[in-house]
This record gives sequence, C-alpha cells and structure tokens, in this order.
Amino acid sequence: MRYKPPVTAPDVTGLTMADLEGLLSSRRRAIEAAKWIYGKRPWSLELPPAIPGVNGEAWGRVRASCTVPEVQVTDRTIATDGTTKFLIEMPGGSVETVLIPARDRSTVCVSSQIGCTRSCRFCATATLGFTRNLRAGEIVAQYLVARAHCVERPDLSPATNVVFMGMGEPLDNLDEVLTAVEILTQTPAPQLGNAQVTVSTSGIVPGMRRFLTESKASLALSLNGSTDDQRTRVMPHNKTWPIAELVAVLREHPKRTHFIEYVMFDGVNDSDEDAARVAALLDGLNARLNLIPHNPITSPIALQSSSAERIEAFHRVVHAAGLRTMIRWPKGSDVAAACGQLARIRTKT
Ligand code: SAH
Repeated sequence: MRYKPPVTAPDVTGLTMADLEGLLSSRRRAIEAAKWIYGKRPWSLELPPAIPGVNGEAWGRVRASCTVPEVQVTDRTIATDGTTKFLIEMPGGSVETVLIPARDRSTVCVSSQIGCTRSCRFCATATLGFTRNLRAGEIVAQYLVARAHCVERPDLSPATNVVFMGMGEPLDNLDEVLTAVEILTQTPAPQLGNAQVTVSTSGIVPGMRRFLTESKASLALSLNGSTDDQRTRVMPHNKTWPIAELVAVLREHPKRTHFIEYVMFDGVNDSDEDAARVAALLDGLNARLNLIPHNPITSPIALQSSSAERIEAFHRVVHAAGLRTMIRWPKGSDVAAACGQLARIRTKT
C-alpha cells in the first residue's frame, strides 16, 4: 500500500546553503548554521533555542519554519567484521542504513526509498514492494546518525564516504537524491568530496543522463549481465532500457570515471565469454568494474552465487583485457547487511 505522507514543514537536515542563506538573510549566518546542523554530534530530534554565531531572531525563523525529520534508530546490529546495520523508523515505515568501517575510512550506505520501485529478482528489498520516496532531509539524517555512531566509537575511522546502495532506486527519486548529494558535499559541512559520494542505479536511462549532467558525484551502474537476455531475466526493467542504451549514456561522458557493479550468478552471467563481452562493452570508457558475489536471499527464482574460483577466473579475463576490476567480497552478511540483503530482517547477535 502506498503511504501518503502528510504535508510537513521542510526538514532542517534538508536545507542547502542557498536555503539557509535565504532563511537567515546572511551568508555568514548560513555558514555558522550549516556548521551546527551538519556538525559532528550525537543525533537529536530537538532544535535548541540558540546556536553559536547566529542571531537569535534569525535562528528563530529556522525553528519556526523547519522541523527535524522524525527518524528513530530502533535497532542496531553489529557484524563480526564491524559492519553496523541501523534499523531506522520514519513516517510510513522503516529503512536500513549500514556503516561499513575500513582501516582508513568508514562508508555509510544510505537508503533512498522505503521499499523500492524496481523488482530485481535477486534483491531482498524488491520483495517489500514500494512505500514511498525519502526526502533529502531523511537521507542526510541517515548519514548523520551513522556518523554520530562513528564519533562514539573512536576505534572506527571517520565516516567520509557515502554510497546510495541501501534500499531503493535512487534515480526514481532523483530530485531528493540530488539535493541530498548537494548537501553532503557542501562547504563548510558536511563537506564530503564528490568522489566520496556514489549513487548506484539499476539503470534508469533518463535519470542517469540527468545525474551525469547535473552532479559531480560518482555514479555506479548495476550491470549484472553481459547480454539483454541475461539482464532482463534478473532485472525486468532492462526491457525498457537495454544494455546498449545504458552504455551509450556512459559514453556521453567520456572524461568521467564510471563505476560498474556486476553481481555474479552461478551459470547465468559468469562465464569467460561473459567476461569478454563485459570488457568489450566497456572498452574505451574510464570504467572501474566491481565484481560482487551474489548474497543469498529468499528469492522467487533460484539464483546461486558463482564460486570464488569462477569469480577469480572472470576477474582474470577482464583484467587481461585492461579493465580496472576489484572483487567485493561481502561485508556484514552474518547480520543480513550485505548488498541486496536489506529487507528489515532481524538477526540475533
Ligand atoms: N537500486 C540501486 C541501489 C541499491 S542495490 C542499484 O540497483 O544499483 C546496491 C547494489 O547491490 C547493486 O549493485 C545491486 O546490483 C547489488 N545487489 C542487490 N542484491 C544483491 C544480492 N542479493 N547480492 C549481491 N549484490 C546485490
């Protein structure tokens, strides 16, 4: 059932620098307010009566016209590799946000929709159906919640990277996603680099074209097949936007780095011939290919992951063809936090 959110005041965590400048009638105050709103501190649903460096009457206008989005962390599970999954309740349902720590940085994987508008056969989120799009302020809030957890845990590296690889198809919610990316990368805060923010898509051609034109952040395309037959079997909307059209959009931006995700299914898309076809498709592009073993989900069609040996053999073929390729061994799979496993399944830790 579609959820129709009530009309509410703008989210304070959805304010761009231009919005703040308009509300506060001053660039200098906007800078101070952004430092406070997007600064490192525990997540709170309260806006204080005053903040440093901003005149009380001007801040009062923000308090009177904006609200903090109602996002509540109701569960937190930590996998043996440190990957932390947050269950976040918000009006209309809940989403999952995943914090993936590494030695030099932590990455926050955010959701862009409650459920998803697409029906990829291998993805647990698709089984939930679609409830609603998230607002930019709710997407940014997920980053702030996960970053606050990093601040509490000094053993974790700072959360400097964001990937839109949680629940949802970001390009089906493009206006809000573009605003969230603008906020995440804005100066003075949170000030993430454009290369540190990656939006992942299941291949929505009009959205890809717009994203590549309007945003400097990175785009990742979930290719997941080397022929249209294979891809349509696992991603039905490939009928609307087949592989040749996806690659043609990437070729419109030859100077950009294009990230390609390739989930590997046993006996479906993982032969040496598939590897050669993928290399040919991406030939001449500045592409980085990520090979992802399929993480098991309860799926309507029987799909198994390719074996580690097969993935490594595939990797050798694409590598020999000159493609920059990495194998992404799963993280957080013991708490169902790995790619494609986000379906609000609770696990005991
Ligand atoms: N809708 C977007 C973002 C969410 S999925 C997209 O499709 O890109 C993020 C990544 O997880 C995608 O590359 C997707 O192909 C991959 N994925 C989905 N289900 C998976 C599964 N069960 N195992 C491994 N990867 C999966």
